[in-house]
Amino acid sequence: MWFKCFWKKIIYDFEFFSNNVYKLGINVANTPINMKSLALQICNKCNKNDAIYKRYYSGELLCKSCFLRSIEHKVKKTIGKFSMVKYGELVAVAVSGGKDSLTLLYILSHIFKLNELGKLIAITVDEGIDGYRDESLRIVKEFCSELGVENRTVSYKELFGTVMD
Ligand SMILES: [Zn+2]
Repeated sequence: MWFKCFWKKIIYDFEFFSNNVYKLGINVANTPINMKSLALQICNKCNKNDAIYKRYYSGELLCKSCFLRSIEHKVKKTIGKFSMVKYGELVAVAVSGGKDSLTLLYILSHIFKLNELGKLIAITVDEGIDGYRDESLRIVKEFCSELGVENRTVSYKELFGTVMD
């Protein structure tokens, strides 16, 4: 039961993060902006900045920088708790170019850099469908370049010997 609750909390924070990447100052394309204003409410952590997020499960109010630090801390703690990554390991993140996978890559790249955890790469599969993947391949390439993360694109045809189109 605790396990279920734990993941539910992380997912709630993660959803908020990925739905508000622009407002959080992260340049990712194709993301909706639906951040609710929490005007005149002050962050409970630093007690100085305006709150932009209220945690439904704790009532905690967080400003942008405290929210970003908090979610990175939670992800780092989770990686450690479940021994998900060993030092020096190569970790590949499957990145489609959508907001969720880009958010995950963003958070992991910060954690990997700050903790010299290992090497992180982004892998994108090009399905080879005309006009479908080009825009997201460009987004992933630019985003990885900004983060300093290696991006590898593999084609569906190379992987499976056939095309999806
Ligand atoms: Zn704060």
